[in-house]
Amino acid sequence: MNKTYDKIFVGGGIASLMAAYQTKRMAVDAGVEYDILVLAESIHPPTAVGSHITLALDGLGKLPSEGKDTMRVLMLDAMHELCAIVDREKIACGLRKGYQFLGRNAEEARQLVDLIIRDFNYKEDYFREVPQDDVFRLSGFTHAWETDLIGQINAHDLLWGIQRAITELGGDVVVGRYYRYYRHHTARGKTELYTSYNREMFESRNVPLMATGAHHIQYMSKMRGQTYPEYTIAAHARLNPEHAQAISRRPIAGIDSQFAGDVLWATLDPKNIFTAGIGYTSTPRGERKLIRGVRSIFREVLPDIADLYEDKLEFSFGAMTMTHNGMPIIGRMTSYDVSTGFGSGGLVAATMAGKAWANSLVQGNHETLETLEALQPQLFERSRRARRQAPGVT
Ligand SMILES: Cc1cc2nc3c(=O)[nH]c(=O)nc-3n(C[C@H](O)[C@H](O)[C@H](O)COP(=O)(O)OP(=O)(O)OC[C@H]3O[C@@H](n4cnc5c(N)ncnc54)[C@H](O)[C@@H]3O)c2cc1C
Repeated sequence: MNKTYDKIFVGGGIASLMAAYQTKRMAVDAGVEYDILVLAESIHPPTAVGSHITLALDGLGKLPSEGKDTMRVLMLDAMHELCAIVDREKIACGLRKGYQFLGRNAEEARQLVDLIIRDFNYKEDYFREVPQDDVFRLSGFTHAWETDLIGQINAHDLLWGIQRAITELGGDVVVGRYYRYYRHHTARGKTELYTSYNREMFESRNVPLMATGAHHIQYMSKMRGQTYPEYTIAAHARLNPEHAQAISRRPIAGIDSQFAGDVLWATLDPKNIFTAGIGYTSTPRGERKLIRGVRSIFREVLPDIADLYEDKLEFSFGAMTMTHNGMPIIGRMTSYDVSTGFGSGGLVAATMAGKAWANSLVQGNHETLETLEALQPQLFERSRRARRQAPGVT
């Protein structure tokens, strides 16, 4: 007979894994039985290698100042939480906090900081100017500011580490399954989830949490028109040690490459993998243009050695779920829960959402979840009144 789970998390990205992990961790720490299953087509990192952890939420600038402050506190808390999880679960994912923003002169470096403050929801006092002799060495860039509140992490290793932690805590993870549809049995208080694999079915006492990313989520009922995919690219190459040595004393750099108001994120990780990411396109057909753009970045920031790596560049091209107001969609609908729409800042935002889910599911404390639901009033306000209370087990 099938096992009946308390909660099923659908998706193998950061949103599903983080919510599942934090829920299971909280239950174990509280000595509460709470059976969870992660059901995923694949474990899917945003980029295979260096990803950034930032406080960015696309729509934050449009919130009134009180809401902005609340979200900033939640995101800051989530960044610390993410680092604590990596530490506690001993996930070897090259996590490093600290980021330098470089300019070719003092004015350019300062402009870049202003842009980060404006577009990434940072505050002036998060930054300090770096003494000139301590600046990351990269051709032509001599001035820098730095912050501890942006970091780098290997997202692939992070996701697999979280997956391992879930199973070590006693949760189940089934990968290679494409979720197809669900059936509620109100009288029995159960939900059945069907996958495309051999008519397989999984059973849960609560509605599932859907975190299936850009391509799938937009077709769920009630989600049509709420999200859209946007494509972005990162390129990476493993540098020879002597080349890595030549371009850096510090592991991380942020560079204003004069990309019309965009920020070029470029980092060198402890394994000498240089990553650069930039740009968005609304269709997969824009991939070639982004590849051209990212190649030119390599030539610009590594002029002496770019030719050597021309054929060794690898690309991560993928879709992010975007929403119309730039805020994530996190909340409870009538027949499923949803966690999506993190845009380009998914790693920290999904950690924030995961904690809200854990509090709601395990402790029956819905306060943060309600704050997050209020970011998308058109979706959650109506169901809020009629809503079943999430059970909570304490
Ligand atoms: C090139 C690139 C670089 C990026 N860089 C960064 C960065 O540096 N920092 C950062 O914070 N964010 C970055 N992002 C954004 C980040 O990737 C997203 O915000 C994040 O991945 C969203 O996570 P998610 O779990 O919602 O969705 P996804 O990561 O898209 O995960 C969705 C998961 O659901 C699974 N799935 C889909 N449909 C089904 C189904 N029917 N049944 C079962 N499973 C299903 C998929 O296989 C996948 O595992 C980047 C994105 C891209 C594309």
